[in-house]
Amino acid sequence: MRSYPKVQRCKSAFVLMKIVLYLLFSLGAACSVKAQNFGLRILTVSDSSQITSEMQLFDSLFYQCIQDYGKKDISSLFTANASNVSKTHPITVLNFITGIDVPLNYVFPFKLVKSISVNDSISIIQLDMGWMQLALPLNRNQKKLMRFESLNNFGLRKFEYKNLVIYSTEEVKRRDAVKAYSRIVVASKEIGVNLKKFNAKTYTMYSANSIAEAYAYVGGLQNASFFYPGSRYGGMGDPYNNVILSGISTPIHVHELLHFVIDFPCNLFINEGLASYYGGISSGNYETNIKSVLGIVAENDIHTFQGLYNLQISNASFNSVRGLYVLSAYLLNRVKKDFGLKEYQLFIRICKTDQEMINSLKALYKLNSEQAVFNYFFQISESG
Ligand SMILES: [Zn+2]
Repeated sequence: MRSYPKVQRCKSAFVLMKIVLYLLFSLGAACSVKAQNFGLRILTVSDSSQITSEMQLFDSLFYQCIQDYGKKDISSLFTANASNVSKTHPITVLNFITGIDVPLNYVFPFKLVKSISVNDSISIIQLDMGWMQLALPLNRNQKKLMRFESLNNFGLRKFEYKNLVIYSTEEVKRRDAVKAYSRIVVASKEIGVNLKKFNAKTYTMYSANSIAEAYAYVGGLQNASFFYPGSRYGGMGDPYNNVILSGISTPIHVHELLHFVIDFPCNLFINEGLASYYGGISSGNYETNIKSVLGIVAENDIHTFQGLYNLQISNASFNSVRGLYVLSAYLLNRVKKDFGLKEYQLFIRICKTDQEMINSLKALYKLNSEQAVFNYFFQISESG
C-alpha cells in the first residue's frame, strides 16, 4: 500500500477507500467463496450454465482491462468514448480506489450477479466485488466494453454552464450555477489561486439527492460499504476523468469543485479544510456543527491531529458530520483572522505534510508542542 495517493485532489473519497481496503484484507480470509470460475479468467460464477459465449467474451475483455488498469492505455478495449475520458482510468467507479499497488484482479474477486440485455447489441454485466457492485456494459457487436455513463440508463438531463456539465434527473437552474461560480471566484482570490487551469478543463458532475444515487449513475450499484451509515449526503471526485459525484441538497457541489481549484499540494487536513471553508460541508457550512464536533473531541480525549484521523474512522457521529473538515475550516478561519490574507496564503502552502502544518502553527502562535497547538484551537473553553 502506498501511504499517499498520487493525486492531491479529492482525498475524501480516497481516504474512505483505504479504510475499505483494510477491511477487505481482514475479511478476505474469513469469507469462503462458494462461486467458481469454471475456466473463466477473472469472473466467478455460481454454476457452469452462466458461461455463455457472451460471458467468455466479457471475461477476457474485463480481464485485460483490470490487468492493465491505471498502467497502460486500455482505451482500445472500449467503444468510442468522450475525449475527456482517461485512457488508463476509464471506469469512474474504480477510480475511487487507490492506495494499492497490486492489480485490481488480485484484490477483488469479481462475482457475476447477472447479465441484462439492453438491446440487440448491448448487455449490462453486473458484478459483485463483495463490498460493492459494479455494472459494466458490453457491446456484443463491436466486441468491446462500454462506460456505464455512456448509456445514460437513468435518463439524466444534461445542463451546461461554463466548463461544467451537470447530469441530473432534476432541472438545474442557471442562477444556481452562477452562484456556485461566484463562490469559486471568491475562494480562489482568498486562497490565491489563478483559475486559468481550472477553467481550461471540463468537469462532469452527476448530481443526485444522495451520494449512493449519484454513485449508481456511473455504474456503482450498491450502497457501497465505504459510505458510513450516517453519510447519506456528500460528494466524491474522480481526478482522472474530472468527474464529480454529488449527493447533497444543492445541485452544484462547490466543495468538490474546489478540490479541483486547489492546485498546490497540501495535506489532507488543509485540503479538506479549504474545500469545506469555502464550499461548505454537504449543504451546510462548518459553523453549523463546530460545537458538537468540539464536544466529540473533548469526550474522546483527543489531543493530536493523528487522533482526529483515527476518530474520523472509528467514530460514526464524528464521521457523519465530517468532523475533520469542520475543525480544519474552523482553524483556517482563525489563522486568516489572526494573521491576515498574505500570511494565511503562505501558511496553506507550507502545509504539505502534517508535520509542516504543526511546525508552522507552533511558530505562528509561539507554542512549543503539537498538543499545545491542538488544545489552543480545539479545546472547549470553560464557558463552552
Ligand atoms: Zn472534500
